Amino acid sequence: MPDSTSLIADTIIRTVELGLTITGAGIDERHTWITCRPVEQDASCPACGDEGRLRDHRIRELVDLPVVGHPTRLRIRLPRFTCTNTACATKIFQQQLVCAKPKAKLTDRCTRWILQRLAIDRMSVAAISKSLDIGWDLVNQVALEQARELIYADPTHLAGVRVLGVDEHKWKHRRGDGTPGFVTVIVDLTPNVDGTGPARLLDMVPGRSAEVLRRWLAAREKSFRDRVKVVSMDGFAGYHTATTEQLPKARKVMDPFHVVHLAVDQADYDPAADPTGHLRASRQVRRPVVRGAADPANPDGTADRQAEGEAGRGVR
Ligand SMILES: [Zn+2]
Repeated sequence: MPDSTSLIADTIIRTVELGLTITGAGIDERHTWITCRPVEQDASCPACGDEGRLRDHRIRELVDLPVVGHPTRLRIRLPRFTCTNTACATKIFQQQLVCAKPKAKLTDRCTRWILQRLAIDRMSVAAISKSLDIGWDLVNQVALEQARELIYADPTHLAGVRVLGVDEHKWKHRRGDGTPGFVTVIVDLTPNVDGTGPARLLDMVPGRSAEVLRRWLAAREKSFRDRVKVVSMDGFAGYHTATTEQLPKARKVMDPFHVVHLAVDQADYDPAADPTGHLRASRQVRRPVVRGAADPANPDGTADRQAEGEAGRGVR
């Protein structure tokens, strides 16, 4: 492949923002292949900073944004160097990219594109996976990692949380591959209660069990656990158990959505028409383990708070 670059192609594909310049291109039935190289060669050793001696080249493949609707792959020819500093522990190193993290399979802009499609356009993971011609699991993994990075990059993201919301979300609509289909979503409802803004996403943890929430709460600092006064949740016993253990002083309330859902289920349920109880079971009417204030904004309301004693008795 000749190592000539094209200003026109670089402009259309915006490869300059990747620190790359296009040297060739090709297509097959599924992909657009773009061959490129770094705009500038950087021979400085990442360990000692000394200039290395060119040794050879390696091809690194990356998934990039689709071009005119077709999945695209970058084939980047990267120089490898030998460090000339005899005291340096790094003997051979490859030039790093500004457009992708080491060992990443996607360019950073492709990762951002995935998050934008999920969050702004409500595109499904399956549709994104098809657009990029990569696996569902890779899209899922990239989205989760990026979301976590965005959240945890903010050192104040757990500050001021007094009202915590916990719910399960069916993240995955496939069965049988051994990974959890549900995530536990943890949000800060304090801004809602204070009227200062919308709820904030704090974390998403694979699985939905007492252990998932127990571990998450236990990993937080004691000052955080002491500050949380109310935990709003659905009727799932696992979340109730974990909260009781890790936040014994916090009040557990059922969120309004699940209260209404439960009420609707109960309102048109006729025990006389269901002597065996099968109908009740098939409708998945759950016995609430949390009773009390349905409105986290009014946790000290008049609702019956004999929660522990009444837990599991359910609504009749
Ligand atoms: Zn070195």
